[in-house]
Amino acid sequence: MLNHNELYARLLDLDGGGYKAYKGIRGSYQFPNFVLIIDRVQGDPFAAPSSMRVRVPHAVAQFSSQLYGSPSREIALRDYLTRQFGSVARTKSSHRGTGKSGKIAIASLGQTVLARNSVLIDGEGVEARFVVGLPARGRRILGRQAMEMLCEDIPEIVEESLRYPALNADEIQQHVEGVEDSEALRQSLVERKLVAFIADGAILPRRSGADDRPLEDCAIAFCSPPSLRVELERPNGGKISGMGIPEGITLILGGGYHGKSTLLRAIARGVYNHAWGDGREAVVTDPSTVKIRAEDGRSIAGTNITPFINHLPQNRSTQRFSTENASGSTSQAANIMEALEAGASVLLVDEDTAATNFTIRDRRMQELISKDKEPITPFIDKVRQLYRDCGVSTILVMGGSGDYFEVADRVIAMENYQPREVTAEAKEIARKYATGRLSEGGEEFGEITPRVPLPESVDPSRGRHSVKVKARDRDEVFFGTQEIDLAAVEQIVDAGQLRAIAAALVYAKGKYMDGKRTIPEILDRAIADIEEEGFDVLSDFPQGNFAQFRRFELAAALNRLRSLRVKF
Ligand code: ADP
Ligand code: MG
Repeated sequence: MLNHNELYARLLDLDGGGYKAYKGIRGSYQFPNFVLIIDRVQGDPFAAPSSMRVRVPHAVAQFSSQLYGSPSREIALRDYLTRQFGSVARTKSSHRGTGKSGKIAIASLGQTVLARNSVLIDGEGVEARFVVGLPARGRRILGRQAMEMLCEDIPEIVEESLRYPALNADEIQQHVEGVEDSEALRQSLVERKLVAFIADGAILPRRSGADDRPLEDCAIAFCSPPSLRVELERPNGGKISGMGIPEGITLILGGGYHGKSTLLRAIARGVYNHAWGDGREAVVTDPSTVKIRAEDGRSIAGTNITPFINHLPQNRSTQRFSTENASGSTSQAANIMEALEAGASVLLVDEDTAATNFTIRDRRMQELISKDKEPITPFIDKVRQLYRDCGVSTILVMGGSGDYFEVADRVIAMENYQPREVTAEAKEIARKYATGRLSEGGEEFGEITPRVPLPESVDPSRGRHSVKVKARDRDEVFFGTQEIDLAAVEQIVDAGQLRAIAAALVYAKGKYMDGKRTIPEILDRAIADIEEEGFDVLSDFPQGNFAQFRRFELAAALNRLRSLRVKF
């Protein structure tokens, strides 16, 4: 390992040289308080900035082990340090030449607290992974500026963001305890047979569809209806009361604009932990909850959708249903069946994004279009079987039709953003105004058929690049020559998740898609590897921009790959 003075001298030496000469600075440098490791050097000032790490020994970082003693605390501390590093780096980062010259950045985080590889804590100390735009004017190295960035700015960032004495102790404590509490709440759902919990006082609405921070001014805090109120225990925060949604079928209804979708969206996000001050810290959901929606236009590869769709025109198979261009109802059926294939235990459906003909079929329509001319078995006739036969609960937002009153275990009305339980009224109304509907669901839910992807149909290569995957923002992956559109996969909440999903697809294809393993088996193995060995199994050099994702979202990416072909 070289001394930091040598890096200093080298960078000044490089001043005025051609950009490629930067390649020579790869390596490790001992600074007084840490080691700087330059892993990958960019080829030009416009290319993806260079990847670097700092490793700060525990003796210098000085975090007490109680701050990272449990898995959820460790994730929280790493999250906190990433945010801290990011905000200090922003003050140092400036435009110092051409392209990305002067940039110093770490993964940028939103409201969710996820395990990620931007900051790691191991037996030796704390490691932060970030990128640096090595500075140049045109293609001429700006050696003096590079020296300032690496030998002055980075030590300052380390000093101000990765050492306990420089940080706000109360804030850190709050953050790690808060995340540990959220995790504990989520874990306590199972024993209480709940699928979701929304704490009293939670702030559910967001500033906008594009801004995930809490709505500031006129947000009305959540208040549970007495009949659904439960009290859960948190390791740090003590008891907390809120609305517990039990297993089974839950209907959320109410007038337009009264907060139904906002509640459901918060429930969907409850599979993740949220940063302190988000308003959803104590909104937690069964981790295997999947938001379902119609997604016309998506491709489908051999999914068995017979529980919902049968007898298509032209005798098309629905046991192995494939299409380049799904309709609203077939896409929703496939989204459900694929979620079940991947192991979902709770489904969330919002009328705003559901196909109407998939959701309901009333008596009049049953009279005019007989069952043998309607391929769709509506969700209303399957939702109870789904619970009874497969143990899968559903939470459904439905303001426009009362047909679900019969099949719901409980009914929650949203009024002025507040829930009220109206199960008894709804059941009474169902008795008073019978719909006369005929049940079309048959005897049982039907089969979930795991598919085996054909490895040759999953090809990330592109021309002379053996592998080419790239995530754009958080809704699109370039996989070889194809684009995978994930805009409708609502539980991908972070660009780091998408990058990790893209890399995991390549990894899973290389290691586990052998033409024999089923999709659930492939998901199990790939995710177990990442859990055991860390995100570094996904990349050929240490990088810091991956975030934890769930098996459902990895499956969703594979399922939306247009070239995918399967056997059974
Ligand atoms: P619905 O699905 O019932 O039509 P939405 O959930 O879409 O209603 O909410 C309508 C609007 O009300 C949204 O702009 C949302 O941000 C806002 N809103 C939702 N819940 C609250 C709340 N608790 N406090 C303040 N505004 C809210
Ligand atoms: Mg709505």
